[in-house]
Amino acid sequence: MTLATHIVVAGAVASPFLPNPLVGFLAGFLSHYVVDAIPHWDWPLKSIRINLQGRKYKTNFSSGTIIFDTMMMLSDMALGFLALFLVLQVNFSINAAVALFAAAVGGVLPDGMEFFYHAFRKEPFVTHHRFHSWAHTRRIIPHRETLKGIFMQLPVVAIPLGFLMFIFFR
Ligand SMILES: [Zn+2]
Repeated sequence: MTLATHIVVAGAVASPFLPNPLVGFLAGFLSHYVVDAIPHWDWPLKSIRINLQGRKYKTNFSSGTIIFDTMMMLSDMALGFLALFLVLQVNFSINAAVALFAAAVGGVLPDGMEFFYHAFRKEPFVTHHRFHSWAHTRRIIPHRETLKGIFMQLPVVAIPLGFLMFIFFR
C-alpha cells in the first residue's frame, strides 16, 4: 500500500489507545502487515523494480533513482500526515499528536526496513523481508493501472479516517 494509506490506518488503529505513544507505535507497526495482505496497487519505485508476483526484484541504486524515490516517499508520507493533521484539528492535544506520530512511524517502518533490505541485504532486514513477503498479498495491481489502484485503495483510507474522526469527535 502507499505510505499515506499505512499512516492513516496506523493512526486509526492507534486511536483507541490514545495518548499512549508506545502502544500507538506497536499498533501502527502491526497494522502494516495486515494492510499489506489486502490486494493493492503501489506507485513504482525507480530504484527497486518488483515483478507482478512480488517475488523477483531488480535494483538500480544511483543518486538519481534514490533522490527521486526519496522525494516520492516524502510526498506520499506528507499526504498521510496531512490527513492526521486534519483529524487533529477536531480536538487537538499535543499528547494525541505525539501518539499519532508514533503510530505513523510504526506504520511506515516495515517498508523502510524493506528499502534497507534491498540496499544492503543484511540482517535483521533479511529476516524481516521474509516475514514481510509472507504477509504481503500476492495479488498486486500492475503499476500502469493507476486509477483502478487508487480507487481500490480509497476505502482502505476512508474507513480508518472515518473511525479516527469518530474517536476525535467524541
Ligand atoms: Zn509493506
